[in-house]
Amino acid sequence: MMGFRRRPSNVQPPQPQPEADRGRLARVGTRLAVAFILVAALLPLIGLLAERHQRTAVARDADIQARRLAGVIAHEVGAEVEQGRALDHEQLQRRLDELRRHIGGDVEILDLRRDIVANTMPAALARRVVTDPEGRIAATLRDGEIRTVNVSADAAGEAMRLAVVPIRTPEGIVGALLLDYTDLHAQLLNSSAPIRRSTLGAAMAGMAVSLALAYLLSRGLIRDIRHLTFTAEQLAGGDYAARATVTSRGELRQLATAFNQMADRIAERRAELTDLAVTDALTELPNRRHMRSSLTRELQRARREGRPLGLVILDLDHFKAVNDEYGHLAGDAVLRRVGEVLKRELRSSDVAGRPGGEEFAVLLPDTGRDAAMAIAERLRAALAKETVRHRDRTVTFTASFGVVSFPDDGQDAEALVQRADDALYAAKRAGRDQVQAPPVDRPGL
Ligand code: GH3
Ligand code: MG
Ligand code: MG
Repeated sequence: MMGFRRRPSNVQPPQPQPEADRGRLARVGTRLAVAFILVAALLPLIGLLAERHQRTAVARDADIQARRLAGVIAHEVGAEVEQGRALDHEQLQRRLDELRRHIGGDVEILDLRRDIVANTMPAALARRVVTDPEGRIAATLRDGEIRTVNVSADAAGEAMRLAVVPIRTPEGIVGALLLDYTDLHAQLLNSSAPIRRSTLGAAMAGMAVSLALAYLLSRGLIRDIRHLTFTAEQLAGGDYAARATVTSRGELRQLATAFNQMADRIAERRAELTDLAVTDALTELPNRRHMRSSLTRELQRARREGRPLGLVILDLDHFKAVNDEYGHLAGDAVLRRVGEVLKRELRSSDVAGRPGGEEFAVLLPDTGRDAAMAIAERLRAALAKETVRHRDRTVTFTASFGVVSFPDDGQDAEALVQRADDALYAAKRAGRDQVQAPPVDRPGL
């Protein structure tokens, strides 16, 4: 018959999207990390370049000093040759040995045919030097240009740096002087080692610091983005209390604030809509949906606590006739009045609602069948006494009642509502304006 078991299709709650964009977020993190590492890696690169520059500068310094020193010695030797003394090989050799002690590097003197005239090097080394594979010594003997020669390391010995200077007399070039400045170069390199080390160290430290900063910064950013995403997913999944808190300042914090404001608005709107959705506008009583969920909830509670639950369904008698005779507005006024009477007559723990039309329902927690019958009877009498004034006419009305209780008349909502409807139908058939309950099942029958 009537009953509020007809359930309007519910609006589906929004579904959460737990896997949304996790991958994309991870890629943002990876990209940030790669960018930071690339930028940080520039620092040691710059450090290495600076160190190379310093090495080159040291080599150039050593070259200049060696050329100058070799030039001075060659000039002296030239002067002695001019005076005819240097032709004495032994004397020249003694001069070179003496020089060697002062300058700390070997010296070799060659004639125009590249034969060794005097030499402070071990014989094998001296011969290796004059091999002159690139022809640079020969070139200096020819054109008088000062040159430096790098003898690379090979099976015969270690790498060497040599300055090649022509020995001149007024008649022209008479030979060449070779100065081995390998040690000088090594000493200069050694003395510049601390500054080169600190250049590299500073670059590496810079890289470490910028990597650490980048890590901390991006970790915070990514954590905040993750949190924002998670919160948005929670909200999308129906958790309207979800709010975002971020640790970083600036845009992300603004985003979080805007997000929270949006969430507040959504929660407010939702509360308004929920109110609208569960309240009947005419009587301001809970509507069918609300009554349905209240019944489910109260049944669970009754089952849990082992208490009874009364359910009363009432339907106005010949209400169509009220509308027909007095008009629809009068009918509305009657419905409103029924709502008022129900509110007035019931305890605050009872739930009265209007599932639809001219049908009402009452949930009576902790109330067995007999007590529910008594309450329904009281309501029936109260309604029958009511009058509604409409356009100087007095409208009276009655209602029929179906009463059931849990657990006597049914175990679940469907069964209870069905049996209450049946009882109500029985009350209608029996003449209306009365209370009926289902026939009691007697054991043994
Ligand atoms: P019965 O005693 O068998 O219940 O007879 P009845 O006339 O009450 O039953 P019926 O179902 O034939 O008619 C119900 C009437 O209730 C029809 C409808 O116009 C009226 N009605 C339903 N909702 C409203 C409403 O919100 N306002 C008004 N004024 N009338 C309503
Ligand atoms: Mg009716
Ligand atoms: Mg009806």
